[in-house]
Amino acid sequence: MAMLEIKGLNVHYGVIHALKDVDIEVNEGEIVSLIGANGAGKTTLLHAISGLIKKTSGEVVFLGKNITKMNAKDIVNAGITQVPEGRRIFPGMSVYENLIMGAYLRKDKEGIKADIEDVYERFPILKQRSNQDASTLSGGEQQMLAMGRALMAKPKILLLDEPSMGLAPILVKEIFNIVEDINKKGTTVLLIEQNARMALSVAHRAYVMETGKIVLSGTGKELSESEEIQKAYLGG
Ligand code: ATP
Repeated sequence: MAMLEIKGLNVHYGVIHALKDVDIEVNEGEIVSLIGANGAGKTTLLHAISGLIKKTSGEVVFLGKNITKMNAKDIVNAGITQVPEGRRIFPGMSVYENLIMGAYLRKDKEGIKADIEDVYERFPILKQRSNQDASTLSGGEQQMLAMGRALMAKPKILLLDEPSMGLAPILVKEIFNIVEDINKKGTTVLLIEQNARMALSVAHRAYVMETGKIVLSGTGKELSESEEIQKAYLGG
């Protein structure tokens, strides 16, 4: 049984049919990437999973439970945390306070303390900057903060929306190394990206979305080697 199953999902924004009968599965322990051009519907899919937008029809099943109609807060509690596009860190709050916000639904004080230390170990720069206003961090550091904050919710699956956006190539590599590391330590990942090359290189499996529809799927390797994908997404 898949950890996360999306079955026949449709989403409309008024007359715009943004997701069309989308079927996706993510198994426990996997990194699954969803690639597609600007406007394909990738963010819409993550928002639909997270309970942030209304679904027209279809089902989202997580750990065997139908969560299609669950509210966003209960979805986080169930173990699904999204790292939003553009990071959305809280300005005017320190790095530490931003991390604590990630744990706002938790009550296990000791566990939260231990997890802050884990995040600081994984992202030493955040420890160095813990008292600094989060808005003063660089783009790469803000991405690390957004990921650290999401980890503070202790997710079973992490939904990452364009983690490479706006970052220099060397930082993109670092962010993807961190994603792989988080996955190796036990967190399942669903990643959406316009940077198809990186997204396919870390993915166990991947899906390609075009104008709201899944048009191809396969292992990361299969898709990176496909001529169609190379032409359309890998510039070769
Ligand atoms: P990007 O990488 O640019 O974020 P995406 O693949 O994530 O692209 P979505 O943001 O999911 O694409 O958008 C899918 C389609 O739905 C687009 O045509 C977009 O214009 C439209 N859309 C997204 N959000 C809304 C909204 N709130 N109201 C109306 N249309 C929307």
